[in-house]
Amino acid sequence: MKRLDVAPAYQTRSGWNALLPQRIAREQLPASRRFRSIIVGAGYTGLAAARRLVELVPDEEVLLLDASTIGEGASGRNSGFLLINPGEPSANAAGFTEDWAVRQMALVQAGLDWLRLLVRTHSIDCDWEEDVPAITAAATSGGEKSVRATRSRYEAWNVSAEEYRSEELRRVLGTSYYRYGIRSLTRALVQPAALHRGLADNLPAGVTLLENTSVSALSDGAPFRLQTNRGEFVADRVFITNNLHARSLGIVRDRMIGIYTYGAFTPQLDDTQLDFLGEAPKWGALPAHRMGTTMRKTMGRLLIRSGDSYERELAPDTVRAMLARLYRNRFPAMRSHEFEHVWGGLTAITHNGAFAFGQLKPGLFASVGCGGAGVARGTTHGKLLAELACGSPSSLLSERLKLDGPNWLPPEPFRRLGATAQIAWEQWLAGAER
Ligand SMILES: Cc1cc2nc3c(=O)[nH]c(=O)nc-3n(C[C@H](O)[C@H](O)[C@H](O)COP(=O)(O)OP(=O)(O)OC[C@H]3O[C@@H](n4cnc5c(N)ncnc54)[C@H](O)[C@@H]3O)c2cc1C
Repeated sequence: MKRLDVAPAYQTRSGWNALLPQRIAREQLPASRRFRSIIVGAGYTGLAAARRLVELVPDEEVLLLDASTIGEGASGRNSGFLLINPGEPSANAAGFTEDWAVRQMALVQAGLDWLRLLVRTHSIDCDWEEDVPAITAAATSGGEKSVRATRSRYEAWNVSAEEYRSEELRRVLGTSYYRYGIRSLTRALVQPAALHRGLADNLPAGVTLLENTSVSALSDGAPFRLQTNRGEFVADRVFITNNLHARSLGIVRDRMIGIYTYGAFTPQLDDTQLDFLGEAPKWGALPAHRMGTTMRKTMGRLLIRSGDSYERELAPDTVRAMLARLYRNRFPAMRSHEFEHVWGGLTAITHNGAFAFGQLKPGLFASVGCGGAGVARGTTHGKLLAELACGSPSSLLSERLKLDGPNWLPPEPFRRLGATAQIAWEQWLAGAER
């Protein structure tokens, strides 16, 4: 059987995290090894579950374990778009029923609202911005057709999405690469590693966070015994929120695949170079195809994210060359197309875009399978998972429980063959949107 890594070990640091001051990881072992609840994985999902558990049960003692350090997992490696439509660039990804798309948007919106509240309450300095233009931009006629179709669908849902013609795109973004765009349903842009850190460093008393602690095995029933590189811990209930890496614990093994995607930051740019990136001091641009290229002008730099690889991280030099080419295509006049930071990030993809969410057996809860839009969507799912475990009903939880779980995927080598063929096909379809 193929060995599944217990946790991701990336080749380079998250560029977002590298731009922040040094942070001391929480590694001090707790006095007790027995907890009422243990959460495996301190990404957005695990952080939300931990916070909500102690909100609901004030004397709850929660241990939150993470194999890495805060800011270095996918939660600190993403592009920081808080999109309420997880299917964007499509209005409704993969043609699910309209109910599915509308329910997803309600779930994401709830996560976003909670994050906004937490950012304000704890004064989390994460460049949370709601007024920065975020545009879904098309470079090809096929892309334009798809973005126009998305806009029509949004209109049918009474959601307005302002249009951008090529001249406006050129003015705002500084590039004539794109021919048509709409205002994306991005409701905020953030520095993701700063948000991740801010949430982790402002957890309520009652939650013990332990970083660099990787869970490698879990016993069958309550009380659960969790083996880690720092010894064994015991809990009455366990929450699995380590996304794709749940597979290494034998959970949802046959329903998720891992796709790496890649980001890079230019060095700090001077004013002349920043002028080449359009007149808006900050902006975000999302692609018209899901295999396309995302960009942000932020913190006096350009962020570019693109590329997809199945289960294996590409070498940093390969990534650097690929992203430099995409950058040059869009901004040929820049003095250089060098990057200061280049990194990969791993996401979980399910065939039907669904999460595995709920109680797997008495005392064992999981929310995994989060691909895109995971900052807000993971947050909602973590929160609802805690509510489910505590028997705290809400209309949002009922809506969430109406959604299907992920479809079964064929075993290897068929899975790899199918996934790599689909990636190659979609990359071809994406064409110049990449
Ligand atoms: C390059 C990139 C760009 C993206 N852009 C966006 C975007 O703009 N907006 C958006 O909303 N989403 C984006 N995403 C997706 C988003 O980052 C994820 O959906 C989100 O991080 C999922 O959160 P999570 O908490 O469920 O999982 P994760 O963030 O993956 O957190 C899981 C945690 O579990 C830990 N872990 C794993 N195994 C173990 C173990 N055995 N023991 C203990 N701990 C373990 C990991 O270290 C990790 O910290 C992007 C992702 C990438 C990679």
